[in-house]
Amino acid sequence: MPATGARRDAPWPEAEHFAAAWAGRIVGTSYVPLLDAEINDLLYRLAVQLGTALLAEPFTSRPGYDIGVELVAADFSAPEALGRTVSLVNSGLLHLLGLPEEPYRARVEELVESVATGYARAIRDRTLAEQDAIRRAAMAARATAEAALRDSEAQRQFAVLYDPLTGLPNRAMFMERLASRLAPGSRGGRLAVCALNIDRFDVINDSLGQEVGDKILTAVAHRIAELARQRGYLLARLGGDEFGLLVERTAGSDDVTSIAESFLAVVARPVNVDGHEVTLTASMGIVEQQATRTNTTELTRAARMSLHWAKIDGRARWVLFDPVRGARQVERSALSAQMPAALARGEFGLVYQPLVSLIDGDTHGVEALARWQHPTMGLIGPDRFIDLAEDTGLIVALGIRLLDEACRQAAEWHRLSPKAPFVSVNLAVRQLRHPGLLREVMAVLDSTGLPADRLQLEITESAVLSTDDETLGTLHALADLGIRLAIDDFGTGYANLSYLRTLPVHVLKLDGAFIRPLEVAGDDPVGEAIVATMVSLGHRLGLTVTSEGVETAGQAARLAALGCDSAQGWHFGRPAAAELITRLLANGA
Ligand code: C2E
Ligand code: CA
Ligand code: CA
Repeated sequence: MPATGARRDAPWPEAEHFAAAWAGRIVGTSYVPLLDAEINDLLYRLAVQLGTALLAEPFTSRPGYDIGVELVAADFSAPEALGRTVSLVNSGLLHLLGLPEEPYRARVEELVESVATGYARAIRDRTLAEQDAIRRAAMAARATAEAALRDSEAQRQFAVLYDPLTGLPNRAMFMERLASRLAPGSRGGRLAVCALNIDRFDVINDSLGQEVGDKILTAVAHRIAELARQRGYLLARLGGDEFGLLVERTAGSDDVTSIAESFLAVVARPVNVDGHEVTLTASMGIVEQQATRTNTTELTRAARMSLHWAKIDGRARWVLFDPVRGARQVERSALSAQMPAALARGEFGLVYQPLVSLIDGDTHGVEALARWQHPTMGLIGPDRFIDLAEDTGLIVALGIRLLDEACRQAAEWHRLSPKAPFVSVNLAVRQLRHPGLLREVMAVLDSTGLPADRLQLEITESAVLSTDDETLGTLHALADLGIRLAIDDFGTGYANLSYLRTLPVHVLKLDGAFIRPLEVAGDDPVGEAIVATMVSLGHRLGLTVTSEGVETAGQAARLAALGCDSAQGWHFGRPAAAELITRLLANGA
């Protein structure tokens, strides 16, 4: 029987055997981060503790508890490890240590129970600790994530509401503030929205480069932002070199015009950036009105429209929104947008106005004048859409369509009577510059069968003034085809008269403005002298002279007396549908 005290320090071969058996049972039940030797050392030590506890007097099962705890600490924490430990201790401890059943069997049972208790408690503590660690880790992770989220949210918010270049509020923020100012239940009263744009900023970018351009823009932005801040207005960068100013409370339009002056003055102070000194100007559009009678879209559009007017009026100025001009412009853009579809649907057509000889009273020609049969707005005159079509370029397609219609009509008349009037068709500058014009005109004459000498093309004096070599070539080619060319609105464009000699022109059409004053002989000697001069000039150049806008018999008589060849106007006939002329020809008139 081994003596307890002596055996603890000296090797205990029985305990070694037990430890080896123990290792055989529990190694592999779970991952244990120890070397085999370390496991053996551990289990040997625990086996010694078991044996020592078993033999101790007085007996206490407490070391069993610690052994359970140690097993878990060493990561023998799988349930199998406990189960196998329990069965090994139960079945083999006494035998391997060479101890008798009595009195040790009862002690073994108590020890086993204690090992299990320690083991279970350690597992629970560890789980709690793990859970706690997990919870802590989760909390920490969440805190980190939230912080990151807050940061990115802040960044996102910033990116959403501020302009990255200047740090100023951006369009979104401007619109948001404007919307809340206009919201029902907000303070009402008057407010102003201004759109400010640096004049010719592209020149700065082009000459000094984008980088310097950005710095100059930022410098100017900060300067106007500072003024806005002092006055309590919101200044935002709406995009590019355009800024929006929101004055949330105004007393009337006089109020904002002085505000506009001070902002334009601030922009006009020289800026020094990277050794460059530049002096800029800005243009500003302003709309000032009652908050209750408008909305954000309307206000910003009005401000931008006024800004556009400030630009076309010559820049470096402010322009206050004019609702009448605005409505007209809105209508124009609406019409402009509708034109391509209207052309496709065939809503454009022609009416014809007689060109009458002042010598024999014959209608020797008709001028084709465009009309737009709009589905909701009714009949629209060319003064409201021709220049729009010129702006958008649609005039090229529209013009050739109308030319085709006019020539088709004139050819039909020509078949009815050899004395049928020629047709005179207006040609826009843009059409004249269109490279395909000559080919298209030839194709139209070809397909309609109209002889070229039955076609006259009217080109305004201002268009003639802007001819270059190429368009001059086109004019010559058209004239060579046998087409007559007329200079329209003559006298309004300050044409260089000697230049007329170089043009292949056949007809001068005197603008109606010269005709209006003529009524009775001697009534307006100066006016009459001007017309007489133009008529004789035309004749000296070998041209036929036609007067436009002849509204009375008196005017017609004076023009005839002055030697004018032919005339056009309400006195002779208003523009009318083609059928009217067809009927006249059919009746032999
Ligand atoms: P325009 O070529 O000078 O045409 C004469 C304009 O004077 C026509 O206006 C005609 O209706 C109007 N008029 C005729 N007689 C009188 C009169 O006795 N008194 C007054 N006060 N006016 C008279 P409309 O048809 O409104 O055409 C306006 C302008 O639109 C034309 O001026 C022409 O420049 C342009 N235009 C018309 N049709 C076409 C077209 O098919 N193509 C192009 N490019 N321009 C066209
Ligand atoms: Ca004309
Ligand atoms: Ca004219």
